[in-house]
Amino acid sequence: LAFIHSLPKAELHAHLNGSIPISELQQMANEYSQTSDNLASDLVREGIAKLKRGVALDEIYDFFNLFPAIYALTSNPANLRRATRAVLEQFLDGDRPQCTYLELRSTPRETAEMSKLDYVQAVLDEVERYPASRASLIVSLDRRMTTRAAQECVEIAHQLKAEGRRVVGVDLCGDPQAGDMGTFEQQFHDAKEAGLGITLHIAETPANPAEEILQLLSYAPDRLGHATFLDDEGKAIVRGNKACIEICLSSNLLCKTVAKLDDHHIRYYLQHDHPIAICTDDTLPFRTSLPGEYALLLASPPLGLGLSEPEQRDSEFAELLDEGDIPFVARLLLHSVPIKAKI
Ligand code: IMP
Repeated sequence: LAFIHSLPKAELHAHLNGSIPISELQQMANEYSQTSDNLASDLVREGIAKLKRGVALDEIYDFFNLFPAIYALTSNPANLRRATRAVLEQFLDGDRPQCTYLELRSTPRETAEMSKLDYVQAVLDEVERYPASRASLIVSLDRRMTTRAAQECVEIAHQLKAEGRRVVGVDLCGDPQAGDMGTFEQQFHDAKEAGLGITLHIAETPANPAEEILQLLSYAPDRLGHATFLDDEGKAIVRGNKACIEICLSSNLLCKTVAKLDDHHIRYYLQHDHPIAICTDDTLPFRTSLPGEYALLLASPPLGLGLSEPEQRDSEFAELLDEGDIPFVARLLLHSVPIKAKI
Protein backbone atom coordinates (compact mmCIF):
# COMPACT_ATOMS: atom_id res chain seq x y z
CA LEU A 1 0.00 0.00 0.00
CA ALA A 2 2.85 2.36 0.76
CA PHE A 3 4.05 1.79 -2.79
CA ILE A 4 0.60 2.53 -4.23
CA HIS A 5 0.28 5.67 -2.13
CA SER A 6 3.69 6.87 -3.26
CA LEU A 7 2.69 6.80 -6.94
CA PRO A 8 1.60 9.99 -8.68
CA LYS A 9 -1.98 9.01 -9.48
CA ALA A 10 -4.64 10.84 -11.47
CA GLU A 11 -8.36 10.12 -11.22
CA LEU A 12 -9.73 10.85 -14.67
CA HIS A 13 -13.11 9.09 -14.57
CA ALA A 14 -15.19 9.93 -11.50
CA HIS A 15 -18.87 10.90 -11.67
CA LEU A 16 -19.72 13.51 -9.05
CA ASN A 17 -23.10 12.15 -7.96
CA GLY A 18 -21.76 8.60 -7.86
CA SER A 19 -18.81 9.58 -5.66
CA ILE A 20 -20.39 11.41 -2.72
CA PRO A 21 -19.22 9.91 0.58
CA ILE A 22 -22.07 8.07 2.29
CA SER A 23 -21.61 10.08 5.52
CA GLU A 24 -22.26 13.33 3.64
CA LEU A 25 -25.35 11.89 1.95
CA GLN A 26 -26.67 10.70 5.29
CA GLN A 27 -26.22 14.14 6.81
CA MET A 28 -28.02 15.75 3.90
CA ALA A 29 -30.82 13.17 4.17
CA ASN A 30 -31.24 13.98 7.85
CA GLU A 31 -31.61 17.66 6.99
CA TYR A 32 -34.01 16.98 4.11
CA SER A 33 -37.20 18.89 4.87
CA GLN A 34 -40.67 17.45 5.16
CA THR A 35 -41.91 20.13 2.78
CA SER A 36 -39.69 18.80 0.01
CA ASP A 37 -40.80 15.30 0.92
CA ASN A 38 -44.41 16.10 0.11
CA LEU A 39 -43.46 16.79 -3.48
CA ALA A 40 -41.11 13.84 -3.83
CA SER A 41 -41.68 10.60 -5.75
CA ASP A 42 -41.90 7.27 -3.93
CA LEU A 43 -38.36 6.36 -5.01
CA VAL A 44 -37.00 9.62 -3.57
CA ARG A 45 -38.92 9.15 -0.32
CA GLU A 46 -37.75 5.55 0.01
CA GLY A 47 -34.14 6.48 -0.79
CA ILE A 48 -34.09 9.33 1.73
CA ALA A 49 -35.64 7.08 4.37
CA LYS A 50 -32.99 4.45 3.65
CA LEU A 51 -30.19 7.00 3.97
CA LYS A 52 -31.63 8.32 7.25
CA ARG A 53 -31.85 4.80 8.60
CA GLY A 54 -28.25 4.15 7.60
CA VAL A 55 -27.81 2.22 4.37
CA ALA A 56 -26.40 -1.25 4.81
CA LEU A 57 -23.29 -1.84 2.74
CA ASP A 58 -24.94 -4.38 0.48
CA GLU A 59 -27.80 -1.96 -0.12
CA ILE A 60 -25.36 0.48 -1.67
CA TYR A 61 -25.11 -1.94 -4.56
CA ASP A 62 -28.70 -1.02 -5.17
CA PHE A 63 -27.28 2.26 -6.34
CA PHE A 64 -29.71 2.91 -9.12
CA ASN A 65 -32.63 2.82 -6.68
CA LEU A 66 -30.79 5.22 -4.41
CA PHE A 67 -30.06 7.59 -7.27
CA PRO A 68 -33.35 9.55 -7.31
CA ALA A 69 -32.74 10.35 -3.63
CA ILE A 70 -29.14 11.44 -4.31
CA TYR A 71 -30.39 13.71 -7.09
CA ALA A 72 -33.10 15.13 -4.81
CA LEU A 73 -30.47 15.91 -2.18
CA THR A 74 -28.15 17.67 -4.64
CA SER A 75 -30.85 19.65 -6.40
CA ASN A 76 -30.08 23.02 -4.82
CA PRO A 77 -26.82 24.98 -5.20
CA ALA A 78 -25.89 24.83 -1.51
CA ASN A 79 -26.12 21.04 -1.25
CA LEU A 80 -24.53 20.55 -4.67
CA ARG A 81 -21.55 22.63 -3.49
CA ARG A 82 -21.41 20.66 -0.27
CA ALA A 83 -21.50 17.33 -2.10
CA THR A 84 -18.82 18.50 -4.56
CA ARG A 85 -16.62 19.66 -1.71
CA ALA A 86 -16.96 16.28 0.01
CA VAL A 87 -16.01 14.47 -3.22
CA LEU A 88 -12.98 16.70 -3.78
CA GLU A 89 -11.86 16.24 -0.18
CA GLN A 90 -12.30 12.48 -0.46
CA PHE A 91 -9.93 12.34 -3.43
CA LEU A 92 -7.50 15.17 -2.77
CA ASP A 93 -7.20 15.92 0.96
CA GLY A 94 -5.75 14.28 4.01
CA ASP A 95 -2.33 12.85 4.83
CA ARG A 96 -2.65 10.28 2.08
CA PRO A 97 -4.70 11.78 -0.75
CA GLN A 98 -6.13 9.22 -3.17
CA CYS A 99 -4.66 11.11 -6.11
CA THR A 100 -2.60 14.12 -7.06
CA TYR A 101 -4.98 15.24 -9.80
CA LEU A 102 -8.74 14.83 -10.18
CA GLU A 103 -10.73 15.44 -13.33
CA LEU A 104 -14.24 15.31 -11.90
CA ARG A 105 -17.21 14.97 -14.25
CA SER A 106 -20.87 15.81 -13.84
CA THR A 107 -24.04 16.18 -15.89
CA PRO A 108 -25.57 19.68 -15.65
CA ARG A 109 -29.09 19.44 -14.22
CA GLU A 110 -31.83 22.00 -14.31
CA THR A 111 -33.93 21.92 -11.13
CA ALA A 112 -36.55 24.16 -9.50
CA GLU A 113 -33.67 25.92 -7.75
CA MET A 114 -30.99 26.21 -10.42
CA SER A 115 -30.37 26.34 -14.14
CA LYS A 116 -27.79 24.14 -15.90
CA LEU A 117 -25.42 27.13 -15.88
CA ASP A 118 -25.92 27.60 -12.11
CA TYR A 119 -25.21 23.88 -11.70
CA VAL A 120 -21.87 23.99 -13.51
CA GLN A 121 -20.86 27.22 -11.79
CA ALA A 122 -21.62 25.77 -8.35
CA VAL A 123 -19.46 22.71 -9.06
CA LEU A 124 -16.69 24.87 -10.54
CA ASP A 125 -16.66 27.16 -7.50
CA GLU A 126 -15.64 24.14 -5.44
CA VAL A 127 -13.25 22.66 -8.00
CA GLU A 128 -11.44 26.00 -8.27
CA ARG A 129 -10.69 26.07 -4.57
CA TYR A 130 -7.84 23.74 -5.58
CA PRO A 131 -4.98 24.75 -7.91
CA ALA A 132 -5.30 23.87 -11.62
CA SER A 133 -2.66 21.17 -11.18
CA ARG A 134 -4.99 19.35 -8.76
CA ALA A 135 -8.56 19.57 -10.01
CA SER A 136 -10.69 20.40 -13.03
CA LEU A 137 -14.14 19.68 -14.43
CA ILE A 138 -15.53 17.72 -17.36
CA VAL A 139 -19.12 18.53 -18.37
CA SER A 140 -21.06 15.32 -19.06
CA LEU A 141 -23.72 14.93 -21.72
CA ASP A 142 -26.25 12.23 -20.95
CA ARG A 143 -27.10 9.85 -23.80
CA ARG A 144 -30.80 10.45 -23.07
CA MET A 145 -30.49 14.22 -23.56
CA THR A 146 -32.25 15.94 -26.41
CA THR A 147 -29.95 17.48 -28.98
CA ARG A 148 -31.03 20.89 -27.67
CA ALA A 149 -30.09 20.03 -24.07
CA ALA A 150 -26.72 18.60 -25.19
CA GLN A 151 -26.10 21.77 -27.21
CA GLU A 152 -26.87 23.87 -24.15
CA CYS A 153 -24.35 21.89 -22.08
CA VAL A 154 -21.61 22.32 -24.70
CA GLU A 155 -22.38 26.05 -24.93
CA ILE A 156 -22.11 26.36 -21.15
CA ALA A 157 -18.80 24.48 -21.16
CA HIS A 158 -17.50 26.69 -23.98
CA GLN A 159 -18.69 29.94 -22.39
CA LEU A 160 -17.18 29.12 -19.00
CA LYS A 161 -13.91 27.96 -20.53
CA ALA A 162 -13.75 31.24 -22.48
CA GLU A 163 -14.25 33.10 -19.18
CA GLY A 164 -11.20 31.29 -17.83
CA ARG A 165 -13.15 28.84 -15.67
CA ARG A 166 -11.70 25.33 -15.14
CA VAL A 167 -13.78 23.30 -17.63
CA VAL A 168 -11.41 21.05 -19.55
CA GLY A 169 -13.65 18.72 -21.51
CA VAL A 170 -16.94 17.15 -22.43
CA ASP A 171 -18.04 13.58 -21.67
CA LEU A 172 -20.79 11.31 -22.95
CA CYS A 173 -22.35 9.06 -20.31
CA GLY A 174 -25.65 7.65 -19.04
CA ASP A 175 -27.66 4.53 -19.85
CA PRO A 176 -25.30 2.77 -22.28
CA GLN A 177 -28.10 1.67 -24.54
CA ALA A 178 -30.18 4.84 -24.65
CA GLY A 179 -30.31 7.50 -27.33
CA ASP A 180 -29.18 7.91 -30.92
CA MET A 181 -25.52 8.90 -30.90
CA GLY A 182 -25.74 10.37 -34.40
CA THR A 183 -27.69 13.28 -32.93
CA PHE A 184 -24.64 14.51 -30.98
CA GLU A 185 -22.28 14.93 -33.93
CA GLN A 186 -22.57 18.72 -34.03
CA GLN A 187 -22.12 18.99 -30.26
CA PHE A 188 -18.84 17.09 -30.24
CA HIS A 189 -17.68 19.03 -33.27
CA ASP A 190 -18.45 22.29 -31.45
CA ALA A 191 -16.72 21.05 -28.30
CA LYS A 192 -13.54 20.24 -30.29
CA GLU A 193 -13.67 23.64 -32.01
CA ALA A 194 -13.90 25.27 -28.59
CA GLY A 195 -10.69 23.50 -27.55
CA LEU A 196 -12.46 21.19 -25.10
CA GLY A 197 -11.19 17.64 -24.65
CA ILE A 198 -13.57 14.80 -25.45
CA THR A 199 -14.05 11.60 -23.52
CA LEU A 200 -16.81 9.15 -24.42
CA HIS A 201 -18.30 6.16 -22.61
CA ILE A 202 -18.15 3.66 -25.41
CA ALA A 203 -18.88 -0.04 -26.04
CA GLU A 204 -19.95 -0.53 -22.42
CA THR A 205 -22.23 -3.47 -23.22
CA PRO A 206 -22.21 -6.26 -25.82
CA ALA A 207 -25.44 -4.74 -27.17
CA ASN A 208 -23.79 -1.53 -28.37
CA PRO A 209 -23.86 -1.81 -32.18
CA ALA A 210 -20.64 -1.57 -34.20
CA GLU A 211 -22.05 1.37 -36.23
CA GLU A 212 -22.65 3.37 -33.05
CA ILE A 213 -19.12 2.65 -31.84
CA LEU A 214 -17.60 3.73 -35.16
CA GLN A 215 -19.74 6.84 -35.13
CA LEU A 216 -18.54 7.79 -31.65
CA LEU A 217 -14.93 7.12 -32.67
CA SER A 218 -15.41 9.46 -35.63
CA TYR A 219 -15.90 12.30 -33.11
CA ALA A 220 -12.13 12.02 -32.45
CA PRO A 221 -12.28 11.42 -28.69
CA ASP A 222 -9.13 12.03 -26.67
CA ARG A 223 -10.12 9.37 -24.15
CA LEU A 224 -12.62 6.53 -23.90
CA GLY A 225 -14.58 5.31 -20.88
CA HIS A 226 -14.63 1.51 -20.45
CA ALA A 227 -14.31 0.50 -24.16
CA THR A 228 -15.08 -3.05 -23.03
CA PHE A 229 -16.63 -4.43 -26.20
CA LEU A 230 -14.68 -2.87 -29.04
CA ASP A 231 -14.47 -5.12 -32.09
CA ASP A 232 -11.29 -5.50 -34.16
CA GLU A 233 -12.07 -2.48 -36.32
CA GLY A 234 -12.75 -0.33 -33.25
CA LYS A 235 -9.57 -1.56 -31.55
CA ALA A 236 -7.50 -0.79 -34.66
CA ILE A 237 -8.81 2.80 -34.72
CA VAL A 238 -8.19 3.28 -31.02
CA ARG A 239 -4.68 1.85 -31.22
CA GLY A 240 -4.01 4.06 -34.21
CA ASN A 241 -5.02 7.30 -32.52
CA LYS A 242 -3.81 6.27 -29.04
CA ALA A 243 -6.98 7.43 -27.29
CA CYS A 244 -6.37 6.73 -23.60
CA ILE A 245 -8.71 4.11 -22.11
CA GLU A 246 -10.21 4.91 -18.71
CA ILE A 247 -10.21 1.56 -16.92
CA CYS A 248 -12.68 0.99 -14.07
CA LEU A 249 -12.08 -2.56 -12.82
CA SER A 250 -14.52 -2.73 -9.87
CA SER A 251 -17.25 -0.99 -11.82
CA ASN A 252 -17.00 -3.48 -14.68
CA LEU A 253 -17.03 -6.46 -12.32
CA LEU A 254 -19.97 -5.22 -10.26
CA CYS A 255 -21.95 -4.20 -13.34
CA LYS A 256 -21.09 -7.66 -14.70
CA THR A 257 -19.80 -6.42 -18.04
CA VAL A 258 -16.61 -8.34 -17.24
CA ALA A 259 -17.07 -11.78 -15.65
CA LYS A 260 -13.73 -11.92 -13.86
CA LEU A 261 -10.62 -9.79 -13.60
CA ASP A 262 -8.61 -12.25 -15.62
CA ASP A 263 -10.88 -11.59 -18.62
CA HIS A 264 -10.61 -7.82 -18.30
CA HIS A 265 -9.74 -5.86 -21.44
CA ILE A 266 -7.01 -4.06 -19.48
CA ARG A 267 -4.79 -7.01 -20.41
CA TYR A 268 -5.23 -6.30 -24.11
CA TYR A 269 -4.27 -2.64 -23.69
CA LEU A 270 -1.31 -3.49 -21.46
CA GLN A 271 -0.06 -6.04 -23.97
CA HIS A 272 -0.19 -3.40 -26.68
CA ASP A 273 1.43 -0.74 -24.51
CA HIS A 274 -1.63 1.43 -25.04
CA PRO A 275 -2.24 4.43 -22.74
CA ILE A 276 -4.65 3.62 -19.94
CA ALA A 277 -5.78 5.42 -16.81
CA ILE A 278 -6.90 3.52 -13.73
CA CYS A 279 -10.13 5.07 -12.40
CA THR A 280 -12.96 4.48 -9.93
CA ASP A 281 -16.11 5.51 -11.89
CA ASP A 282 -18.46 5.78 -8.87
CA THR A 283 -16.82 5.24 -5.48
CA LEU A 284 -20.13 5.02 -3.60
CA PRO A 285 -21.89 2.05 -5.25
CA PHE A 286 -18.69 0.24 -6.16
CA ARG A 287 -17.28 0.80 -2.68
CA THR A 288 -13.86 1.55 -4.02
CA SER A 289 -11.08 4.12 -3.97
CA LEU A 290 -8.29 4.91 -6.40
CA PRO A 291 -5.62 3.13 -4.30
CA GLY A 292 -8.09 0.22 -4.08
CA GLU A 293 -8.22 0.00 -7.88
CA TYR A 294 -4.40 0.04 -8.07
CA ALA A 295 -4.35 -2.69 -5.42
CA LEU A 296 -6.48 -4.82 -7.76
CA LEU A 297 -3.73 -4.57 -10.36
CA LEU A 298 -1.09 -5.75 -7.97
CA ALA A 299 -2.91 -8.35 -5.86
CA SER A 300 -2.46 -12.00 -6.76
CA PRO A 301 -5.21 -13.77 -8.70
CA PRO A 302 -8.06 -14.45 -8.21
CA LEU A 303 -8.41 -11.28 -6.07
CA GLY A 304 -6.32 -9.15 -8.36
CA LEU A 305 -4.60 -9.20 -11.73
CA GLY A 306 -1.25 -10.15 -10.23
CA LEU A 307 0.57 -7.71 -12.48
CA SER A 308 3.50 -7.54 -10.13
CA GLU A 309 4.64 -9.01 -6.84
CA PRO A 310 2.93 -7.13 -4.02
CA GLU A 311 5.99 -7.54 -1.82
CA GLN A 312 8.19 -5.59 -4.22
CA ARG A 313 9.24 -2.27 -2.73
CA ASP A 314 9.81 1.19 -4.16
CA SER A 315 13.57 0.75 -4.02
CA GLU A 316 13.35 -2.43 -6.07
CA PHE A 317 11.26 -0.63 -8.66
CA ALA A 318 13.75 2.23 -8.66
CA GLU A 319 16.60 -0.23 -9.25
CA LEU A 320 14.71 -1.88 -12.07
CA LEU A 321 14.06 1.55 -13.52
CA ASP A 322 17.81 2.29 -13.44
CA GLU A 323 18.50 -0.98 -15.17
CA GLY A 324 15.88 -0.20 -17.79
CA ASP A 325 14.22 -3.54 -17.04
CA ILE A 326 10.85 -2.61 -15.64
CA PRO A 327 8.04 -5.11 -15.18
CA PHE A 328 4.98 -4.13 -17.11
CA VAL A 329 2.94 -2.86 -14.24
CA ALA A 330 5.82 -0.82 -12.89
CA ARG A 331 6.24 0.82 -16.27
CA LEU A 332 2.58 1.62 -16.26
CA LEU A 333 2.63 3.04 -12.78
CA LEU A 334 5.97 4.78 -12.62
CA HIS A 335 5.58 6.50 -15.93
CA SER A 336 2.36 8.03 -14.64
CA VAL A 337 0.50 7.43 -17.87
CA PRO A 338 -2.66 8.79 -16.21
CA ILE A 339 -1.06 12.17 -15.52
CA LYS A 340 -0.02 12.47 -19.15
CA ALA A 341 -3.56 11.59 -20.21
CA LYS A 342 -5.07 14.72 -18.61
CA ILE A 343 -7.38 16.41 -21.07
P1 IMP B 1 -23.49 13.01 -12.33
O1 IMP B 1 -23.22 13.20 -13.79
O2 IMP B 1 -22.60 13.82 -11.45
O3 IMP B 1 -24.96 13.24 -12.00
O4 IMP B 1 -23.12 11.50 -11.97
C1 IMP B 1 -24.01 10.42 -12.06
C2 IMP B 1 -24.33 10.06 -13.50
O5 IMP B 1 -23.16 9.56 -14.13
C3 IMP B 1 -25.36 8.95 -13.67
O6 IMP B 1 -26.67 9.44 -13.70
C4 IMP B 1 -24.99 8.38 -15.04
O7 IMP B 1 -25.59 9.15 -16.07
C5 IMP B 1 -23.51 8.61 -15.12
N1 IMP B 1 -22.76 7.36 -14.87
C6 IMP B 1 -22.24 6.92 -13.71
N2 IMP B 1 -21.60 5.73 -13.91
C7 IMP B 1 -21.75 5.43 -15.21
C8 IMP B 1 -21.30 4.34 -16.03
O8 IMP B 1 -20.64 3.39 -15.61
N3 IMP B 1 -21.68 4.39 -17.33
C9 IMP B 1 -22.41 5.42 -17.86
N4 IMP B 1 -22.81 6.46 -17.14
C10 IMP B 1 -22.49 6.47 -15.83
